[in-house]
Amino acid sequence: MIILKSDNEINMMREAGRIVAVVLAELAEKVAPGVTTAQLDRWAEKIIKKHHAIPTFKGYNGFPASITTSVNEELVHGIPSPKKVLREGDIISIDCGATYKGWVGDAALTVPVGEITPEAQKLLEVTERALYIGIEQARVGNRSGDISAAIQQYIERHGYGVVRNYTGHGVGRSMHEDPQVPNYGREHRGIPLKKGMTIALEPMVNIGTPRTRVLDDHWTVVTDDGKLSAHFEHTIAITNGDPLILTQL
Ligand code: MG
Ligand code: MG
Repeated sequence: MIILKSDNEINMMREAGRIVAVVLAELAEKVAPGVTTAQLDRWAEKIIKKHHAIPTFKGYNGFPASITTSVNEELVHGIPSPKKVLREGDIISIDCGATYKGWVGDAALTVPVGEITPEAQKLLEVTERALYIGIEQARVGNRSGDISAAIQQYIERHGYGVVRNYTGHGVGRSMHEDPQVPNYGREHRGIPLKKGMTIALEPMVNIGTPRTRVLDDHWTVVTDDGKLSAHFEHTIAITNGDPLILTQL
């Protein structure tokens, strides 16, 4: 069931989203060689709590941390660890959720650790651009497939793999609501987009195969071929005009 939000509810979600945006902006500044993913998690939790919000991820299906940190071939759901030390040339995807007054914001970005290869840099640029190309389609009169198709076509034009196993999703009082919005699909298909829908769009893009597997920790998702993966996400609201990005400063 898709739950439409009133303007007032969207404003509340914007507050939650802004907190997530603050966390991601501050963490992006802190990412550097020698920093551990556990340190990033501690910083994230501190910032979320300072804003009187709750880390949405912590305890979600038993997840032990406030952010997920996924390095290089790790795509999503990486568990922060004091043993995971960032090194020059890595890329790290940070995904964060914050619940504020009962409303959830969900966003992610991938950042370089120091100097990265041009190949990695291009992957980051294409993935971030794919997110905005998807957002551009999030309009009344379109269908969810218009978002999916735009994202897929842009990514595949660059020869990258579009991950199939994980998708964008509705978000509101829960982190995962209907509808699912895959990063692949066909134009004019899927559900009609309506004012008041709030969805998290989140292309996950692999340099090589789109296939993924889950590590023995039962959380960390990695690319099947061990090549790099990137992830960008925003929570947005569909309005009568332009889509509204809720997880930005
Ligand atoms: Mg997320
Ligand atoms: Mg999400």
